[in-house]
Amino acid sequence: MDYRDSPAEAEFRARLRAWLGDHNPGLPPSSTDDVYWARQAGWHTSLYDAGFFGLSWPGRYGGHDLPPVFDVMLDEELAAAGAPPRPSLGYLVQGIATHGSDAIKDRLLPGLISGRERWCQGFSEPDAGSDLATLRTTATREGGEYAINGHKIWTSYSDVADWCLLLARTDPDAPKHKGLSIFAVPMDLRGTEQRPLRMMNGITTEFGQVLFDGARVPAENMIGEPGEGWRVAMTIVSHEREPGELGFVARYAKTVNDLEHEVRADPTAFRADQREQVAWAYVQTEMLRLHVCRRLSERLGGVAHGPDGSVDKLLMTWVEQTVGDAALTVSGPRAAVDVDDLGLKVYLYGRAQSVMGGTSQIQKNIIATRILGLPTA
Ligand SMILES: Cc1cc2nc3c(=O)[nH]c(=O)nc-3n(C[C@H](O)[C@H](O)[C@H](O)COP(=O)(O)OP(=O)(O)OC[C@H]3O[C@@H](n4cnc5c(N)ncnc54)[C@H](O)[C@@H]3O)c2cc1C
Repeated sequence: MDYRDSPAEAEFRARLRAWLGDHNPGLPPSSTDDVYWARQAGWHTSLYDAGFFGLSWPGRYGGHDLPPVFDVMLDEELAAAGAPPRPSLGYLVQGIATHGSDAIKDRLLPGLISGRERWCQGFSEPDAGSDLATLRTTATREGGEYAINGHKIWTSYSDVADWCLLLARTDPDAPKHKGLSIFAVPMDLRGTEQRPLRMMNGITTEFGQVLFDGARVPAENMIGEPGEGWRVAMTIVSHEREPGELGFVARYAKTVNDLEHEVRADPTAFRADQREQVAWAYVQTEMLRLHVCRRLSERLGGVAHGPDGSVDKLLMTWVEQTVGDAALTVSGPRAAVDVDDLGLKVYLYGRAQSVMGGTSQIQKNIIATRILGLPTA
């Protein structure tokens, strides 16, 4: 594998670097500040309008049909410029693109990719997280519509979303995995209520819960066939576990670069173990970047996506938590007295990484049973 840029890649990198020089919005890292979430939509459309977002997605829907390595270059340059990461919505794009009809894809993907329409993912419920197939939200066919009733929780971006990708039970008599279907549900339907949740690092705008009380969605908003919901959901979560799909490498690298600058500015102010933590976070982030490059070249080589997404998710979690540890170590006593300390917020958000998109225990179960072939209890 050759990590050097081809002439086309070098031209892209130079153009992107020049653009970032003038257009870096200088936002705080995502997931550490409500200001980031308030201005994230503007950052998305600005990246998209300049031709730097949706690089590997189909041109028909507003993407650029480029090989996925261009996404890696984007992440690298965003991190190097200290710019915010690209919006993480590759898993939704992959889910709709894989399972939606042409009509659904033409209708939904352009707005999702351009950032003109914002989305959330309504899978988890108060009593259905790891065991998602036990979910109780129902979608009941009534003429040309489905009536939705139920309660979703931990729904990222629900407060700003125009659409919810909703997993609901359409056949209560079918086996639990077979009775589910997926819908694109407009968030402004009558009978839909969004309630924000506060995260332990103080963020109030990143996620919430969504309640459905008889909201009626047209039957043509179903993605895939009736009863295909579990398959669609698994496509989505497997991509949600891939750092390359999320752009998280840029997020980690931005934080590590900031920590490195802080330490280099006055090395004597930091103990050796603090400096070592930053160095270790650097090594881990670089390891993840190279891992993403390898995964993307495997994909280019036709390797299909499977349960190894769980290995990626565990790696991503380890890196995020290593970066969080380094941020907290560099903050030192500051973190104990200031709830707004950035290192503290980065550290606290890292705890969520081992839960969102499927917990670390669930990833280990998948690796044990589906990759290693170990028996279940
Ligand atoms: C920041 C964040 C963003 C999120 N965004 C979204 C979103 O946009 N949309 C959405 O639908 N959901 C979202 N989630 C929810 C997330 O997918 C769930 O929290 C996750 O799947 C775990 O479900 P749970 O919280 O119900 O925990 P539970 O499933 O109740 O798990 C509790 C504990 O038991 C363990 N456990 C459960 N079953 C097993 C088992 N079989 N073997 C071993 N251990 C087990 C778990 O690992 C965990 O430690 C988000 C979560 C977070 C933290």
